[in-house]
Amino acid sequence: MFKENFEKLIKIKEILKKILKDEKSIDNLFKILENPQRIIKVYLPLKRENDDLEIFEGYRVQHNNFLGPYKGGIRYFPKVDEDEVKTLAFLMTIKTALIGLPLGGAKGGIKVDPKNLTEKELEELSREYVRKIYDFIGPDKDIPAPDVNTNSKIMDWMVDEYIKLTRIATNDKNKNGDENRLKATFTGKSIENGGSEGREEATGKGGEIILESLIKKLNLQKPLTVAIQGFGNVGYNLAKFLYEKGYKIVALSDSKGGIYSEQGFNPELVMECKKEKGIISGCYCVGSVCDSRLGKDITNEEILELEVDILVPAAIENVIHKENAHKVKAKIILEMANNPLTEEADEILNQKGVIIVPDILANSGGVTVSYFEMLQNLNNERWSKEKVFSELEKYLTRAFEEVWEIKNNYNLSLREASFVLALKRIYEGFKNN
Ligand code: GLU
Repeated sequence: MFKENFEKLIKIKEILKKILKDEKSIDNLFKILENPQRIIKVYLPLKRENDDLEIFEGYRVQHNNFLGPYKGGIRYFPKVDEDEVKTLAFLMTIKTALIGLPLGGAKGGIKVDPKNLTEKELEELSREYVRKIYDFIGPDKDIPAPDVNTNSKIMDWMVDEYIKLTRIATNDKNKNGDENRLKATFTGKSIENGGSEGREEATGKGGEIILESLIKKLNLQKPLTVAIQGFGNVGYNLAKFLYEKGYKIVALSDSKGGIYSEQGFNPELVMECKKEKGIISGCYCVGSVCDSRLGKDITNEEILELEVDILVPAAIENVIHKENAHKVKAKIILEMANNPLTEEADEILNQKGVIIVPDILANSGGVTVSYFEMLQNLNNERWSKEKVFSELEKYLTRAFEEVWEIKNNYNLSLREASFVLALKRIYEGFKNN
């Protein structure tokens, strides 16, 4: 996956050579980016509650730090492997550069299905992971964050373990002195523990900001219909924000299945219903009521093929591939998951004229507010949610406008234009290194 992702950059490379007129350095830069700077593989022993010892595989891939310390989430997922983490780390290098953050790119993961662990086991595994990567992380080195199946509670355990280990390593008596600085080693923490207002909703909010910018450029009139695959933190918050902005959320799904209603769902009520029932099926909540006559159940495959204006894959990667890409009927795809389209799907859909808003732009709200969280920790500040969201809007609309201009100037897709902008910035970092 990493290799294919990288190989498609040939066209971008040629454009950069044209813009920057520095062939040699660009060739060198691409040679460097073709491999991560460091791959850490760890084996994590976990004593299960039944007394069995199980060994879990974990990774931290530090792809590039020309623009600043490595940054990126940690995912817990049964399919985690080195290649996947490498691809995602590379995408983080591109994403942080694209938004103009002074950060590089990394990703981590543990090959585990967290649903099979008790809370105590999950905590112990998370702490063990930190013990194994401790030497390689820190506010100036690498700053992990949540990703698929990880959240603020896990970040709190991790930062606690990190601070404990630092106290031991530095024999520090002054326990409170640099606490906030150490906390900046992880973002996506709980608010009580140094997390930022708005971080939880940030990825969804960012998706809304980017989509609204696009809709304005295209002069499209609301209500527009939206189908969202994935009802976790990202999918749910995006659904909520879009609903508030007058979009019609006609389909929603989680890993077990989905729901459809022509009239459009109220995502907050759907979430309440899902929490009560433990399953999204049957949660046909429209306006202020949930009623079995207001919708129908659909599958996770069907949701991708609906006749809607906007399709949002907000769960996992590679859900749209060469077998189902030609069945997609949406006019716009907003990639809220990382890497939801395979190479072939991307090509098929581009040829069909579908506008694809790439993950590195669409879901960059999360890492942007992570950056704000770091800043708040390092400067002993606390920003209000209003300030967080208004700063987020500034960063993302600026990036969007720049991407749009490059897209028009060079007749590129939004993904290609995003890569050009990001790599131009990484090139500058490379030259100054
Ligand atoms: N996991 C998120 C992403 O893929 C956020 C990363 C971060 O906040 O560092 O962008």
